[in-house]
Amino acid sequence: MGSVGAKEIPVLLNADGRRIDGRRLDELRQLSITAGPLNQADGSAFVEWGANKVMAAVYGPREVHPRHLQENNKAIVQCRYNMAAFSVDERKRPGLDRRSQEISKVIAEAFESVIFVEEFPRTSIDVYIEVLQANAGTRCAGVVAASVALADAGIPMVDLLPSVAVGKIGGAIALDLKKEEDNFGEADLPMAMVPQSGRLVLLQMEGHMNREELSQALELGVSGCRQIHEKMKAALRERYAPSSANPSEAAA
Ligand code: ADP
Repeated sequence: MGSVGAKEIPVLLNADGRRIDGRRLDELRQLSITAGPLNQADGSAFVEWGANKVMAAVYGPREVHPRHLQENNKAIVQCRYNMAAFSVDERKRPGLDRRSQEISKVIAEAFESVIFVEEFPRTSIDVYIEVLQANAGTRCAGVVAASVALADAGIPMVDLLPSVAVGKIGGAIALDLKKEEDNFGEADLPMAMVPQSGRLVLLQMEGHMNREELSQALELGVSGCRQIHEKMKAALRERYAPSSANPSEAAA
């Protein structure tokens, strides 16, 4: 631990290039995805990613509430991202704050650009994301969970939407920041990508990076998204064709 004034700040990057949890700069935290854990929802997914635990549920296409939001030529995508009051160490005020509203909006816009919304006029596709335990990158975990939940609900989409945050810690570009790295690092850049085309449909940035660092960060994020995409597909295969996902189990 280094110290600045009265505040203790952790050393984010060791001399050997390892991070506080021992990861390399280009390494993801452990990610596990379960498709379809909820019976009530049309589609659902549970994601455990590092210390994050996030549940997503999808309903629709269904009647629009409130009615005046209805669009005659397409479905609308509504998203509610919420962090449970018990999801963080410090007590969080329950309910929808400005941060949750902003995250809900950018996630809804990301999904609206990949769902074939014209196929379902005058309906709503409702995406609920509940963060049960938070440790940075929860909006990305939310996008991953919601994307698998949308596929589980059978909503037609261009592709799944892998998502990850890239950042800058101790002067270096790093994949998939955890809480201390997010809090004490120099920059945090969450992104979501359409794997087929490489199109970015969510991109935000907090902190500072120069042009070269930004392009390095995007490149690292793209490779992270490709790894996450494989896990998302595997989670759906496990639900719908477990024998092909796990041939040894099928034989037993
Ligand atoms: P993301 O979770 O997408 O990285 P932020 O960068 O805004 O979003 O938040 C980083 C982390 O800070 C969160 O994952 C969570 O662990 C913590 N955090 C965010 N909001 C609060 C809050 N109101 N109270 C306590 N901790 C919070």
